[in-house]
Amino acid sequence: MKTSILAVGTELLFGQTVNTNAAYLSEKLNLMGFDVMYHFVVGDNPARLKEKLADAFTDTDLVILTGGLGPTQDDLTKEMVAEYMGVEMHLDERVVDDLNAIFAKRGGNMPENNMKQAYLPDGCTPFYNASGTAPGFALEKDGKVAICLPGPPREMKWLFENGVRDYLEKFMEKKMVYRVIRTIGIGESDLEMLLMPLIDGQTDPTIATYAKEGECTLRVASQRDSEEEASAAVDEMTERVRKLAGEYIYSLENEELNEVVVRILKEKGLTIASSESCTGGLFAAAITDVAGASDVISSSYVTYSNESKIKELGVPAETIERFGVVSKETAEAMAAGTKKRSGADIAVSITGFAGPESDPGHEAGEAYIGYAVGDIKGHIEIHTSRNFRTWNRRYFTLRMLRAVYMLIR
Ligand code: ATP
Repeated sequence: MKTSILAVGTELLFGQTVNTNAAYLSEKLNLMGFDVMYHFVVGDNPARLKEKLADAFTDTDLVILTGGLGPTQDDLTKEMVAEYMGVEMHLDERVVDDLNAIFAKRGGNMPENNMKQAYLPDGCTPFYNASGTAPGFALEKDGKVAICLPGPPREMKWLFENGVRDYLEKFMEKKMVYRVIRTIGIGESDLEMLLMPLIDGQTDPTIATYAKEGECTLRVASQRDSEEEASAAVDEMTERVRKLAGEYIYSLENEELNEVVVRILKEKGLTIASSESCTGGLFAAAITDVAGASDVISSSYVTYSNESKIKELGVPAETIERFGVVSKETAEAMAAGTKKRSGADIAVSITGFAGPESDPGHEAGEAYIGYAVGDIKGHIEIHTSRNFRTWNRRYFTLRMLRAVYMLIR
């Protein structure tokens, strides 16, 4: 079904608010098999709103509007949609009750102008809002469908997931199934080249690659007459992707790398400890972000100065003196010390220059990850050739996670 998204709100045109509603809806609708063809943004102006609604309905049959369902006089989306569709409004008793309950809970009476939100177009399908005051609704006429949702993203998403999604089922000619595959260690263009035999001439399932910060995501999607058929097609294509790019894949279930690392550590009953210099604890934060991390992380050291590396981790002073604090030798000594002091099964360390400055003879974005597992020890050398501090720190953290993942998978 050809679809448009029409976001209403002057703040969107002023650049004060980013139109994240359109991004969210587009993603969800495309995955459901709707053909999103246009995004429109219009200010809180009734004439222009109606004009854009007419434009949207010229080329598309489903228009999803967000914003302008509030209680104030400039909130006119509902009124304009009803007028465009040629229907009157009626008072919806359930919304009145909901509003009364919300305001009673807040300890006051409902302001008069909120009653405006209890009016809905005749013949619409209401989407009652348990996450705010404005209900959404769908209105159909002559094969055209308008869906109105409130502007606040939290409410919009709630209504989409708790009403709109089910309502839209009847317009879905085919069933869409997709899988998000996460990879690391390969750039988007290299991954695309690797998968070219599958991507070239694809019709269904489709494979799309998306570059994310330091990693790359693949979406395999199929639209078939039944969910079973689509699911089988996605599984079969996933297997083919795995054959070609298996070494880079870390999740077939759209998990984050830190989640995968914690899951595997848990499954294998292993513990980990870290020592960080240039990432200042970001690795430990990524691990402890995952619920249940206490089963796997024993300790984490942030050793920023040379002295702390020597004192906390037992890195020999002469190693730092001889090879420099940002060196593979220091990284390995940090990992060895971390393992010894923590008693963890796996130790991982990092020392590097996050930038924008570095010492003479080095460059920003240069870092060394050290690791120690059982009798195995080693290092990974990184040169990002970038001097963006935040970016480097995040990338280094990802590389630490990847190093651990490679060791335990
Ligand atoms: P309310 O009942 O809060 O008035 P509403 O349906 O009238 O809801 P708006 O007043 O248009 O919605 O927007 C409320 C807030 O929601 C805005 O200030 C903005 O922060 C956010 N918002 C609105 N539209 C969008 C959008 N398209 N994308 C992201 N955020 C949005």
